[in-house]
Amino acid sequence: MEVDATFFDSFPFSEITQASGLVEVTLDKLGSRLVCLVNFTGRCLTPCDRCLAEMEVSLDFTERLIAQLGGQTDLESDIWTLGTEVHELNLAQPVFEWIHLCLPFRRVHESTDSCDPLMLSHLNASQRAKQDEKGNDDDDDAVDPRWNALKDLK
Ligand SMILES: [Zn+2]
Repeated sequence: MEVDATFFDSFPFSEITQASGLVEVTLDKLGSRLVCLVNFTGRCLTPCDRCLAEMEVSLDFTERLIAQLGGQTDLESDIWTLGTEVHELNLAQPVFEWIHLCLPFRRVHESTDSCDPLMLSHLNASQRAKQDEKGNDDDDDAVDPRWNALKDLK
């Protein structure tokens, strides 16, 4: 398959319906450039900064990715360059990153009443014993398997 207008015409919309949400992709060809509008509406689960229990965060954002065809493939710059060996536009990585960028800086349950009471009392106890261990939480550790589904978006 070739990366050309016809190729991209074949998937003007790509959507996944997951617990995580809906990704809608619109592609426009402007001269030699492809303008890719990605709208994400959904929710993601992330650990509460206070009690570490999973909480739901609503997300709704639209991001834009511009790609030009030809030349040396470069997926790192602000404007992607798709060389002739690139046969698909894989948006999994940018979508994954946008979702993270759009997460609120501080993610906690709206009130402590929603937090895991056992964890809170445990945390309070350990905080008395030593200083805040918050820097320790490992939410950067592994890729949530739910996001692997995003890899189907091509
Ligand atoms: Zn909480």
